[in-house]
Amino acid sequence: MTFRTAIAGSLPKPAWLAETDKLWPQWRAEGAQLAAAKRDATLLWIKEQEDAGLATIGDGEQSRQHFVHGFLERVEGIDFEHKVEMGIRADRYKAMVPQVVASLRLRGRVHETEARLLRAHTTRRTKFTLPGPMTIVDTVADRFYGDRVRLAFAFAELLNQEARALQADGIDIVQFDEPAFNVYMAEAADWGVAALERARQGLTCRTAVHICYGYGIESNRKWKDTLGHEWRQYEQVFPALRRSSIDQVSLECMHSHVPLDLIGLLEGKDVMVGVIDVASDAVETPKEVAETIGRALQFVARDKLIACTNCGMAPMKRAVAEAKLQALVAGAALADARA
Ligand code: ZN
Repeated sequence: MTFRTAIAGSLPKPAWLAETDKLWPQWRAEGAQLAAAKRDATLLWIKEQEDAGLATIGDGEQSRQHFVHGFLERVEGIDFEHKVEMGIRADRYKAMVPQVVASLRLRGRVHETEARLLRAHTTRRTKFTLPGPMTIVDTVADRFYGDRVRLAFAFAELLNQEARALQADGIDIVQFDEPAFNVYMAEAADWGVAALERARQGLTCRTAVHICYGYGIESNRKWKDTLGHEWRQYEQVFPALRRSSIDQVSLECMHSHVPLDLIGLLEGKDVMVGVIDVASDAVETPKEVAETIGRALQFVARDKLIACTNCGMAPMKRAVAEAKLQALVAGAALADARA
């Protein structure tokens, strides 16, 4: 098949690992029992992705409670004991966030266990996700650096350290998740992309950035309703990304109001086209997926197109996520047969 297929990153956690249908779920166990459960859930999703026929396989983010806080838990200089409530993504929703209280340093590896597990249990291409610097800055309360740009570059250094280690673990694609780029567009173009470049410095594996309109949770759905008829947020950031050394860039297509001609701003890049809506339990038909791919092909060469989910699937029902993975691959095969 011509089209590559992948997921954005997260997959639902089984009910025996954590609370279901939640963005910040509580774990069901602790200590060695929790570690074993995370490992089992990761293996389960590697198998599910392979069985669905995906070309690129991830760990489904089974080992982290949340896509940002999973990284922060291994960072020295962060106070997790005294979380504070903060409006995040320009006050779209409130979250309990940890505080930056001292100079930042990694306590060691963050994702070694799950990255090596992933590499050992699939022969397919592997992708591993990390939060991007700007999105991390938007998900912590800063009591130390006093400057968003300085703080972002401090995080970028730590991300770079972990990304290099992931590459050494045998990971093929390191992806940084930057939903904040669609909220602070001017800042993203001004320094967000530069911080991202710092995070990917020296990597020889492929690198990607995932930018989206968020998980399919209520506050995000309400926010999308305020964005109007055409969503042009990507327009401000894509030119800076095109000039960057990032190889792959994502955008939401299925059920979004993103004008697809914005893909033209990413000339030369691989484009991860979101063909699966993560805000709806309705499973796409292969025909719908193929049609979305067909629309995107007006603006990107077929060898540059990667069929992908709009965003992570963490808060979804497991059976729905499994069905959507199958629809993604079946739709890509159908588009391949048509083109
Ligand atoms: Zn996303």
